[in-house]
Amino acid sequence: MTVGLGGCNLFAPKSSNAPEVAVGPAGTIAVSEMGGRLGLTVQQNSAHSATMGNRFNSVVFFADPGGLAYVNGREVGEKGGLVVVGEMMYVPESLEQEIRRALQTRARVVSPPKRSPPAKRSPPLAWTSQLKYGPVVIDAGHGGRDPGASYYGYREKDIVLDVALMVSEILRASGIDARMTRGTDTFIELNDRAALAREVGAKLFVSLHCDAAPNRRARGFTIYAPRDRMRQASSFAAAMERSMLTTNMASRGIRAAGFRVLVRTKCPALLLEMGFLSNRYDARLLASKSYQRAVARAAADAVTAYLTK
Ligand SMILES: [Zn+2]
Repeated sequence: MTVGLGGCNLFAPKSSNAPEVAVGPAGTIAVSEMGGRLGLTVQQNSAHSATMGNRFNSVVFFADPGGLAYVNGREVGEKGGLVVVGEMMYVPESLEQEIRRALQTRARVVSPPKRSPPAKRSPPLAWTSQLKYGPVVIDAGHGGRDPGASYYGYREKDIVLDVALMVSEILRASGIDARMTRGTDTFIELNDRAALAREVGAKLFVSLHCDAAPNRRARGFTIYAPRDRMRQASSFAAAMERSMLTTNMASRGIRAAGFRVLVRTKCPALLLEMGFLSNRYDARLLASKSYQRAVARAAADAVTAYLTK
């Protein structure tokens, strides 16, 4: 793990001017219009998904299957009603009130000392045929007899599993075939993690970790790409960094590394250190559901953007 102080390129929200003038089906409004009404900055807007947010909130719309809206990782409104016309996504006007109710007005940092309730299981089999993109392998680091970093009562293996479950759930909800190297607290050899990615013909591989350093002031997230295939992973890494900056965690940059899970995969692969468990502040964030959800959304957004571009 790396030693040193984190960077200070804190997330600066972009201003959303230049409203789009476009007409959608009755009862719907353009994503940019919805952002304007809610006072949220549109960060990404494609025919497949759109994200908007502010310092404390993130709203995600998925066009498939039939339309889903998430506020801070929680589904809001009825399924369906999202319409794509050309490259523009239109969302039901009625969602405005539901989203507004779900928005947070300040950061909520909870520090649950205990294990959180298990995330939802995989979606029903009927969904499988609708998974149009992928497969993508989401790798929760460590597990079982290998707890990973352990500080302030938090264990890396628990945090990364929770986030990995959330990432997979969001991806499947948006039609992406997400596979996990582990969905429970089990030990898996590094070689087997990479082998799974090769066996299923993964299009992308993302390994989730928490950092640790002797210097307890070290903070921030770091993205590692395979040092022998930096070029292959570079655009995915850049998408991941952009997406992760929306969590307000500072970036320590994109770095080359020889980690086995990276080197032995064939597809574009990244290892994401989501923050420092050895830093008291980062540890509290990493253990909080709100930051976990934000990271899960950021990682899922980067995967979605890459696969659907
Ligand atoms: Zn780790």
